[in-house]
Amino acid sequence: MISIFTDSDEQTETFAGKIASSINKGMIIYLEGDLGAGKTTFARGFLRELGFEGAVKSPTYNIVQPYQTDQFTIYHFDLYRISDLEELEALGIRDYFDGDAICLLEWPEKGKDLLPAPDIRIKLDYEGKGRQVTFDPVSEIGHKTIEDCDR
Ligand code: ADP
Ligand code: MG
Repeated sequence: MISIFTDSDEQTETFAGKIASSINKGMIIYLEGDLGAGKTTFARGFLRELGFEGAVKSPTYNIVQPYQTDQFTIYHFDLYRISDLEELEALGIRDYFDGDAICLLEWPEKGKDLLPAPDIRIKLDYEGKGRQVTFDPVSEIGHKTIEDCDR
């Protein structure tokens, strides 16, 4: 587990880019933390590193936003508004976890058992004017990703 302090959006995006540069297809990443903690900012930095140049917003209303880069399909979820697991079932959420697409999930705690276990859990916490970001690798491939970007 590693923990770092970031004092700006840009720095958070840079850390996200480091993770993205050693990511593999099919990886599941949980983004945890309160409203405004920087989950979407992290997702933005991650997507930029993978070559996506457009706007990245929290998909609060549509729940999931797909992105396509030369190399990867990425699904960015925001489960904040989910109050009932049936909504997720109706969305066909299982189909997104196809072992190929990279999935970034904001508010994974709302998805409970419908979600696969993460490869990496990333937690953002308010810390003064900045944020403390904790990277917690769960799977073997998650550990490898964190090791690779820690060099
Ligand atoms: P979330 O998706 O967790 O609700 P956002 O990424 O949408 O959060 O918003 C984070 C907000 O916090 C933005 O307004 C951003 O400018 C601000 N912010 C301040 N410091 C940081 C930091 N170090 N990292 C990320 N965001 C920060
Ligand atoms: Mg968000």
